[in-house]
Amino acid sequence: MPLTPFQVHHIRQQVINWQAEHGRHDLPWQQDVTPYRVHVSEIMLQQTQVTTVIPYFQRWMADFPTLSALANASEDEVMAHWQGLGYYSRARNLRKAAQHLIEQHAGHYPDDLKSLNDIPGVGRYTAGAIRSFAFSNYGPIVDGNVKRLYARLFAIYGEPNSSAVNKTMWQHAELLTPENQSERYSQGVLDLGATLCKKSNPECQRCPLQETCFAFQQNKIGELPSAKKRKTKPVKDAHFAWLINDTVSATELMLEKRQSPGIWGGLWCIPQLPEQPCTARLVGEFTHEFSHYRLQAKVWAHQLNSVAEAANAQRLYPLDQLDSVGLPTPIRNFINDMKALNKDDTN
Ligand code: SF4
Repeated sequence: MPLTPFQVHHIRQQVINWQAEHGRHDLPWQQDVTPYRVHVSEIMLQQTQVTTVIPYFQRWMADFPTLSALANASEDEVMAHWQGLGYYSRARNLRKAAQHLIEQHAGHYPDDLKSLNDIPGVGRYTAGAIRSFAFSNYGPIVDGNVKRLYARLFAIYGEPNSSAVNKTMWQHAELLTPENQSERYSQGVLDLGATLCKKSNPECQRCPLQETCFAFQQNKIGELPSAKKRKTKPVKDAHFAWLINDTVSATELMLEKRQSPGIWGGLWCIPQLPEQPCTARLVGEFTHEFSHYRLQAKVWAHQLNSVAEAANAQRLYPLDQLDSVGLPTPIRNFINDMKALNKDDTN
């Protein structure tokens, strides 16, 4: 049922008042607000918890405090700052975004939604967030938290990622987001979704929207939002080379830079083999869950001369100096396991 102007005004006001009194105000990106800080934080926060993002955000801002510092950084430096956050195309796109803004907008963020949306890696949500939080201008947003909140408030049923549900969510966001205090409203719906209207056991007794909430009033919290269809993930096998070179001064490990775009693009990794080798010794195995499939990896011992015609993208790195190298988390974990095993063997 369409919302009446009175309902729109009432919900806005409730959200804005609640945010002012009970919402989050102390997050690092809420201090010294600039479009760049909002942009970086919003990209980091995609698929990632606030508590995980905070140290990454602080390190990023210390080393790339401005758009030009980011635009001039090497891809390796940028990827090293992202290792462990996952979804690495986000980091590559942030660097491209900085270059785009310097080339196309003289190093300034545009403040209209269309131009914000044209920045590499910036979608409809991030454009709205930058406009709201950095410019205090009308900027509707819909993310996972907002979807859960709106689904319960307005009885929006259906597969949460379907285009029909997405369209309805955005229609509500566009209607409800005010021209004035957009930043307060946007922060309010994010905070309500994250802190009260949680997936399980929402804290309805503390919620300012209780009286207008369909799910609360009709006792339908258990069925809203509708459950996502469960899909079984396909399993993909992959084979990697473990190539150690012992010198007088160090034990070195062969790494190769992954091509981008692609899985772990721009990061360093133990070399991937086109297929399972016929004779090599199995060194270890690991698995990793990607959003669309499960990687089942086997790692095989290789000789230096067997990969000697190394592509430019391959390099030997001292095994004890990998901290500043941008490695995907499962590869770093595997290397650490191998180091620990080796230590145990020599004790
Ligand atoms: Fe969510 Fe409960 Fe508030 Fe409804 S009343 S919006 S279910 S926290």
